[in-house]
Amino acid sequence: MTAPATRVLLSAAQIEQRVKEMARQIEADYAEGPLYLVSVLKGSFIFMADLVRAFERLRVRTEFMAISSYGTEKTSSGQVKLTRDLDVSIEGQQVLIVEDIVDSGLTLSYLLNLLGARRPRSLAVATLLDKPERRVKPVEIRYTGFQIPDEFVVGYGLDFAEDYRNLRDICVLEEIATSASGAPAAWSESER
Ligand code: 5GP
Repeated sequence: MTAPATRVLLSAAQIEQRVKEMARQIEADYAEGPLYLVSVLKGSFIFMADLVRAFERLRVRTEFMAISSYGTEKTSSGQVKLTRDLDVSIEGQQVLIVEDIVDSGLTLSYLLNLLGARRPRSLAVATLLDKPERRVKPVEIRYTGFQIPDEFVVGYGLDFAEDYRNLRDICVLEEIATSASGAPAAWSESER
């Protein structure tokens, strides 16, 4: 089987520059730490790694959660499953959810409810990518790296059936069968 073709949407250099700008903006908004950065595995692991290293003065804590999405049909009905919870309490803490991409907004809405119920001092969202056209559930995003069109992207941590996470650029995956919802047909029941 030949691999589907990819087209660069955002280059590694563009991403690097934007992540640094986001870090400056976040540092300007949080006068003092610690800021609990909660990365949602697996897709945001590279963004998280670059973001934390771009902070110059803010005290940060790095925490991880994992969610499994049930692919196109079930995800669009809001069904996401927590497969790895935080192992610290966030009560009274400043928390920033670090996401790879916000699409329908259902995953993020689930996470905001879940973490919000734990009574953090503040709770906000930073996402590298946003596909506003696909939003089903309105969610407030405080920091956005790039708004992108409704295309399926891979690279910089984002996968297609677990492949392509290692690409340095963010690329559009072309020549793949897409389902009615716009996501690839084989993209289902996988760990994000
Ligand atoms: P939402 O709940 O907002 O619909 O879905 C968010 C999750 O769907 C993301 O964290 C990501 O795992 C997955 N996703 C949405 N769009 C894309 C995309 O273009 N590429 C990849 N690789 N994953 C995506």
